[in-house]
Amino acid sequence: MDNAVAWSYSALKTFQSCPKKYYHLKVVKDTKESPTQIMLYGIAAHKAAELYIKESIPLSSQYAYMQEQLDRLKALEGEKLCELKFGLTAAMEPCGFFDKGVWLRGAIDLLVINHDKGTARMIDYKFGKSKNADSSQLQLMSLVVFKLYPHVKSVKAGLLFCQEDKLVPTKYDADAAPTMWMDWLPEVQRLEAAFKHDVWNANPSGLCRGWCPVTSCEHYEPRRS
Ligand code: SF4
Repeated sequence: MDNAVAWSYSALKTFQSCPKKYYHLKVVKDTKESPTQIMLYGIAAHKAAELYIKESIPLSSQYAYMQEQLDRLKALEGEKLCELKFGLTAAMEPCGFFDKGVWLRGAIDLLVINHDKGTARMIDYKFGKSKNADSSQLQLMSLVVFKLYPHVKSVKAGLLFCQEDKLVPTKYDADAAPTMWMDWLPEVQRLEAAFKHDVWNANPSGLCRGWCPVTSCEHYEPRRS
């Protein structure tokens, strides 16, 4: 098969956590992951933030705690792009999210580009706890920004834990992009190899105990009440 397997940050994370789970969810698609209440809340809150930044649509009372955070973001200087869906080809050229040749696809919650200065701010809204914050998604999204907007040379990014009003900041420079890609490409090659050889090994972990949707797996155990 063609080596250019389409991937996203979340799909790669699923593969890394358990190739067998990835196989059922993404390859044969015989299993669906039902969204939890927390996930549904996050989706609705992302939409509320998008509409507030983009169209100044007032936040409903359940999201009112975000108002000051979003006002600070609204005040940033630059072009504001909300829920920016992107695609890159295997040659790392920009393409449409649904294009046939798409290799990497994803979405950026908020990108604010200062075109004159060649800088950008990037925010990923989070609705969980910041204790185990993982900024790796921001690194990947910054690499994409450097491809989509080659005049942008640095990205100040942050995970914004809205309910804690806490920003976990980080910064990426375009000069370091070749090195940063090496954090991703070997993992993508592992995914491509799994497709090529059609080998999807189970990686048992605590997730097997009631947290994995692949209930047909020999490692699955129902959650203990
Ligand atoms: S039950 Fe465990 S080993 Fe089986 S697919 Fe799910 S995560 Fe992987």
